[in-house]
Amino acid sequence: MRSYLPVYHMEAPSDLASALEWMQREPGAWKPFAGGTDLMVLLEAGKLPHRRFLSIWKLPELRGIEVGPDHVTIGALTTYTALQGHETIAREFPLLCRAAAETGGIATQNRGTLGGNIANASPAADSPPALIVYDAELELVSAGGARWLGYRDFHTGYKQIRLRPDELIRRIRLPRTRATWKQHYRKVGTRRAQAISKVCFAGTARIEHGRIADVRIALGSVAPTVVCAAQTEKLLRGELPSRAVLQGAQAALAREIAPIDDMRSTARYRGRVAQNLLAEFFEILSS
Ligand SMILES: Cc1cc2nc3c(=O)[nH]c(=O)nc-3n(C[C@H](O)[C@H](O)[C@H](O)COP(=O)(O)OP(=O)(O)OC[C@H]3O[C@@H](n4cnc5c(N)ncnc54)[C@H](O)[C@@H]3O)c2cc1C
Repeated sequence: MRSYLPVYHMEAPSDLASALEWMQREPGAWKPFAGGTDLMVLLEAGKLPHRRFLSIWKLPELRGIEVGPDHVTIGALTTYTALQGHETIAREFPLLCRAAAETGGIATQNRGTLGGNIANASPAADSPPALIVYDAELELVSAGGARWLGYRDFHTGYKQIRLRPDELIRRIRLPRTRATWKQHYRKVGTRRAQAISKVCFAGTARIEHGRIADVRIALGSVAPTVVCAAQTEKLLRGELPSRAVLQGAQAALAREIAPIDDMRSTARYRGRVAQNLLAEFFEILSS
């Protein structure tokens, strides 16, 4: 069944400055190619219009995980396997590790990168909800310089992101503020791994004297982009995690998502599961 592989041209610069020069010369002409786990599927299926690729796999500036006093900074080329094996990420950002562990199989985890998952911008991707509830920021670099952007505002529409054609995602930065927060992640799919999510939920909350002092909630596969449930969060701040508050929050969440029927699930099922996952998060908040 797999036999189509068009003629293509790939350049593999060995440092970031050279890669960015290629991209500046002809913005949009050179498609960045990281682990290739998304791109190869499209290329082989004949669904990729690009014929010129810029392999970024060898760029040392996009690699490594740095632990600072206030942030953990993750190179865009960090694989799912590397995320799971990192002690600080596992301890302070367990939702990201859960997402990594439930992304594809071992081969995909060894090759697929966090930067690729973000730039591919699938609303069904598994790491974006975790990144949102950790208040992730992205460093975007071009030959003209670098800028930091809150990940919460990165997705603007279906497969639309605030990344210019001459830019690369270089790093992802997570503030080290969540270790004492309650955290919950759940991917609902047909199988545990190797299945695209029907619904994916991530939540973090700071509880003070039994009340929800602060909270973040994000979901995948329930709208054209990953959803930050800002109205639901607003409604929950300052409240006790009671049954009545949950019901109000579930109603607010239903208004914030826009699930669809597709080959994997139905809008009705997705809507119900999203509400059930919020209830599951509430159980953790009250425990
Ligand atoms: C069998 C299989 C199972 C999978 N299962 C899952 C799953 O369960 N959950 C899930 O979320 N995903 C899944 N995926 C999708 C894929 O593995 C992930 O999205 C992966 O993280 C993509 O990373 P990559 O490095 O391979 O990206 P690539 O394929 O190299 O690139 C993907 C896109 O990102 C762009 N890009 C990559 N890196 C950068 C960068 N640093 N800056 C700017 N643009 C960049 C590329 O130009 C391209 O548009 C699966 C894929 C396969 C083949």
